[in-house]
Amino acid sequence: MSLREYIVEKMETTPKIFSFAGARVEQVDELPPGLDCQSIFKKVEDALPAKFLQGLKKVRIEDREDFKKRNLSALYDDDVLYISPNFSDDGSVFNDIIHEIAHHIETLYPGFIYDDGKIVHEFLKKRHEVEFELKTEGYWTEGYDFEDINYNEQLDHFLYKKVGPNMLRLVTTGSFIRPYAAVSVREYFATGFEAYYLGQKEKLDKISPMLYDKIYEMHHQENLT
Ligand SMILES: [Zn+2]
Repeated sequence: MSLREYIVEKMETTPKIFSFAGARVEQVDELPPGLDCQSIFKKVEDALPAKFLQGLKKVRIEDREDFKKRNLSALYDDDVLYISPNFSDDGSVFNDIIHEIAHHIETLYPGFIYDDGKIVHEFLKKRHEVEFELKTEGYWTEGYDFEDINYNEQLDHFLYKKVGPNMLRLVTTGSFIRPYAAVSVREYFATGFEAYYLGQKEKLDKISPMLYDKIYEMHHQENLT
């Protein structure tokens, strides 16, 4: 076996382990052929300031039960980023990573993001707009807590099952960057963060100016504590 053959064979049989912003990336399950995870992570590192990625402990690419159950392709839990190996293209996994990094940033800088109350205020104003739109469309909204800023199962069930995705899209257009932003204040932040880094800065500034300003400040300001 030549040295070249040896190297090629070694590359093909060694599980791919690389690092992402100092965190170890463990590829537990095989990816679809042709997808290059390492280059996607490099793209994320290039897109975000290094301060957003600090404290990330580990990335695991593995098939999880809750991905299927909750129809997710990525999730963030306790400084670990989990990515499903079943993604269809590089672009969608890039979006998912950016979204989950937003949840990581919430744990790094909760005071900077929420303490002045601006994001919560803007979010609740939009929730009221959606409630008003739904009433106008003839929906009975009493009994659902549109004031709850956290994930609320009854409200979520009402919006996604009773109102349904099409009507929800209609009544959130103009107030939320996408329907999922209405789920909770945390998703409001994460979807806005996604928009900021995925080429929708102007749209975000127009729809959610407070949120846009907050992310702009976070991106440019050195000290975020
Ligand atoms: Zn999220």
